[in-house]
Amino acid sequence: MIRVTCAAVSLAIAVSLGSSSSLLADELPELGDAARADFSPQLEYQIGQRIFNDIRLHESSYVDDPDVTDYVNLLGGRLVAASSNPAGDFRFFVIRDNAINAFAMFGGFIGVNTGTLLTAQSESELAGVLAHEISHVTQSHLARQIAREKQSSIATMITMAVGVLAARSNSQVASAAIASAQAGSIQAQLAYSRDFEREADRVGFQTMSKAGYDVHGMGDFFGRLQQAGRLYENNAPVYMRSHPLTVERMSDMESRAQSAPYRQVADSLDFHLVRAKLRAQAGTPGEKISEFRRQLREKKTASEAATRYGLAYALLRAKDAAAAQKEIDALLALKPSSPMIAGLAAEIRAAGGDRAGALTIYRNALQRYPQSKALVYGYAEALLDGRQYQEGLRFIDSQLQLYSSDYKLYALQAKTFAALGKRLQQHRAQAESYLLLGQLAPAVEQLQYAQQAGDGNFFEQSQVDARLRELRKRQMDEEKEKKKSGS
Ligand SMILES: [Zn+2]
Repeated sequence: MIRVTCAAVSLAIAVSLGSSSSLLADELPELGDAARADFSPQLEYQIGQRIFNDIRLHESSYVDDPDVTDYVNLLGGRLVAASSNPAGDFRFFVIRDNAINAFAMFGGFIGVNTGTLLTAQSESELAGVLAHEISHVTQSHLARQIAREKQSSIATMITMAVGVLAARSNSQVASAAIASAQAGSIQAQLAYSRDFEREADRVGFQTMSKAGYDVHGMGDFFGRLQQAGRLYENNAPVYMRSHPLTVERMSDMESRAQSAPYRQVADSLDFHLVRAKLRAQAGTPGEKISEFRRQLREKKTASEAATRYGLAYALLRAKDAAAAQKEIDALLALKPSSPMIAGLAAEIRAAGGDRAGALTIYRNALQRYPQSKALVYGYAEALLDGRQYQEGLRFIDSQLQLYSSDYKLYALQAKTFAALGKRLQQHRAQAESYLLLGQLAPAVEQLQYAQQAGDGNFFEQSQVDARLRELRKRQMDEEKEKKKSGS
């Protein structure tokens, strides 16, 4: 259901957003045409990117936490490197939802629910789910499934939406869509074919094995799902509806795993830390503090470091900086190695009023983990809070050299320029941030503000003028394109 899911997500959002859904409504005929012709990789990427942007802009369940995003991209990236398309462009993201689900969209965008992260009993189990999704992408199952079923009408697209919607608990849109669709025919359309499922298992298994994970993980996780399915009776986990789990699939997985050499693979510390953080973010801080304290007291933890991390995080949420500091000190005494722990230590230090101490922690941690986006954003924010604007701009610039398509870096740059009262630069940076989120009209608006700011030199002014001309032209081209496909 993976690829179908992308269309589904966009529709869900389209329905819930009412008037702002025109963008997606426009997009559907385009998707339909594409299904009849061939999906070019560029078109697939454009569709995926557009839906992904909608999710991060409008979907409140999107987990906008760089620690969590860093982790799933690290794990996913390790699997992609071992896949049949090691140079492939993949993006992994997390949706806060207890339902067990994972889905791949066009263009290599792969979403995974927090329910899946928390249900997996080992990192290899989670790797198994991701490897299966990656294989749906590398084998082009979404395009092939759509081509096979000639699913090009908008009505069918809406029907397909139900699958993803059902993945969302408490979704009003889901009930509305379910009411408007005929339940009987949905199941068949939603699901990947059995052939595609078996292929994704087989290819995913090779990927997992090559990446060094315990290949029993995939069967273990699906076995757990199957058991859960029995409990749910007619209300099987949504993942099983989109990825039909058959007896043959289970026995294939078992026999493949049996013939593989036994390999014990330790979970990474970050796997446990991310789970502790997700748990610490749910419910009230007070509940979480007692929960983590009880686990430590009863020594019922898969990872003591992660439980201490969860406790320190919950204490920070409760704004008890002193107690959080005590916990993070106890954790650091265990000498754990993770950018997540360094980042939390810096945040706690800052919450206790020691800004300089926080900056030192960030600087040291960035030496060790230069690729942690969570540390990069945290350090830039800390410099801003400490009014070290010039250093902040220098740092953001150096990061933009590495990650030129990171909208958050531009947003941080805009905030820093705003603090300095540099209006032209502020709006110019904000325009780039919007543009990277696919928000062309707001980007043009920001450049108009930049043009009117009147505080730039001749060179800056002409750069803004040129960029504005370029984006206006892009806007006109898109208008033309829309008219063409509408006629
Ligand atoms: Zn599948």
